Amino acid sequence: MSTVKSVLNESRQIERAVALIKLGARLQVLESETDLSYERLLRLYKEVAGKSPSKGQLPFSTDWFLTWQPNIHSSLFLNIYEYLSKASSIEDIDAVMKAYRLYEEQMKALEMEPLLSITRAWRLVKFIDNNMLAMTRCSKCGGHFVSEAHENARNYVCGLCEPPARAGKGSTAGIQLH
Ligand SMILES: [Zn+2]
Repeated sequence: MSTVKSVLNESRQIERAVALIKLGARLQVLESETDLSYERLLRLYKEVAGKSPSKGQLPFSTDWFLTWQPNIHSSLFLNIYEYLSKASSIEDIDAVMKAYRLYEEQMKALEMEPLLSITRAWRLVKFIDNNMLAMTRCSKCGGHFVSEAHENARNYVCGLCEPPARAGKGSTAGIQLH
């Protein structure tokens, strides 16, 4: 790689890392999505976030995405993400960030707390890519929702059409996926 090219590449990597830190991403996301060294990322993180990154494992389970309210938030994000990646040729991680900002904006407009973090959003896309989760069309409303990988689409009904009995009224009011 020429010097100019490598300097440009590096500044793009730093830009991406900073954007992810600002969105609240965990250090593991930065390690996975940039070529910058761990020490470099750690310094950047402290500088941008003003604190040390939290230690501990990333959430590795698919279960969270299938529980009622998180599922609706995850589905909303994934619909935006899929739309963006189909409509343009941006890199996956850039599509994740862009979709996440749009998701946050939508939550703000609905005066709702964004349940999905950028780290979870990033994991969700990986789970979909690895066929550990899928998108299934609701047989009632036609919206597309995050589901088990081998969900039976014929009988599948989403959490908006059939919220659990214990669900508080209004907690998903305003969210539409169709
Ligand atoms: Zn539905």
